[in-house]
Amino acid sequence: MSEKTLSNRRQFLRQLSGGAGLVAAASSRTALADNHGGKKLGYALVGLGGLSTNQIAPALQKTKHCRLAGIVTGTPEKEKIWAEKYGIPEKNIYNYETFDSIADNADIDVVYVVLPNSMHKEYTIRAAKAGKHVLCEKPMANSAEDCEAMIAACRSAGKKLAIGYRCQFEPHHLECIRLAREKTFGDLKMIDAGFGFRIGNPDQWRLKGAPAGGGALMDVGIYALQACRYLTGEEPAVISATETKTDPVKFKEVDETIVWSMTFPSGVVAACSTTYAFRGVNRFKASSTNGWFGLEPGYSYGGIKGETSEGELRFEEIDQFAAEMDDFAQCILHNRESRVPGEEGLKDLRAIEAIYKSIRTGTSVRLG
Ligand code: NAD
Repeated sequence: MSEKTLSNRRQFLRQLSGGAGLVAAASSRTALADNHGGKKLGYALVGLGGLSTNQIAPALQKTKHCRLAGIVTGTPEKEKIWAEKYGIPEKNIYNYETFDSIADNADIDVVYVVLPNSMHKEYTIRAAKAGKHVLCEKPMANSAEDCEAMIAACRSAGKKLAIGYRCQFEPHHLECIRLAREKTFGDLKMIDAGFGFRIGNPDQWRLKGAPAGGGALMDVGIYALQACRYLTGEEPAVISATETKTDPVKFKEVDETIVWSMTFPSGVVAACSTTYAFRGVNRFKASSTNGWFGLEPGYSYGGIKGETSEGELRFEEIDQFAAEMDDFAQCILHNRESRVPGEEGLKDLRAIEAIYKSIRTGTSVRLG
């Protein structure tokens, strides 16, 4: 290693530790300033499936500013189990028919929509009409038009809307955004990003067109799309995509594997992929004029690993869902905009629609 490289490396490590230190100092200041006499916002979870059960409810126990106050479920057996496990009073338990009466429940400040994708729109709008703030899982909805209706409903109710983009609260991702914006490695030129997995059970809603609205792209490709958008800080100008189906029976109604490219106004190009057919795609690598940085695995709930052309990126593991819910609570308590508002979900859906259009038409799609 040359002396210049060594000196660059020392400088880079100093920059990194400076950045990490700043993050730590800022978060402890925030914790002191924002205690609000111990007030925790009450969250009600709508849909008690895999994500609510295994990630969100446990994460709520780790938050500083939130508490699991209520549930909405269509499965009566779950009511007792959840009530006992989390000490939820009967008056805070709803089903899909009684949901609207949540308007009269002062224990509930936020409704977290954790339902199949096609149901996000209805429950976001009903929650806003009931006077609740809404955190809605990704993808925000099955179309950009639905996203617009959700944003309008929350705006006219005077309630906040945020999308469950947990990676935007994860320290490795935040550091990569900083490296891109501060041009630590020079101008960002190219991003290679992908997220996919091998999907099991052929009967699940994720493989049905109506509830899912799409396949791998809507479910996990959206993480790669998001990464390209938050690293560049730009919206794609041109998108070109192709789909491959190796199992037309299993993937009759939704996409299986998609590769797509995006060109951003600054000239950054992105090569992206997503799949429901195989393992091993879970990363991004951002290449700049003087070096590179990236994450692999990049989008998992934990175990994210970061590397740059100058060395390793390492941050303490956090619960991404707890961070996301605490941040939304802070936004509500301080009346500030979330960094992942409904508009962020809408922009992703516009890009996703362009990807599907490019596949359908066999041509590149220009976005306005
Ligand atoms: P899931 O299938 O495990 O749970 C869905 C829940 O919705 C179940 O409790 C089911 O009973 C209920 N439901 C109500 N009406 C239904 C209907 N008509 N059809 C099917 N189910 C119905 O799904 P999940 O993995 O919990 O995903 C829920 C949402 O969370 C999805 O939008 C998904 O994209 C999102 N998600 C996000 C992440 C993340 O990391 N942010 C991870 C997983 C899932």
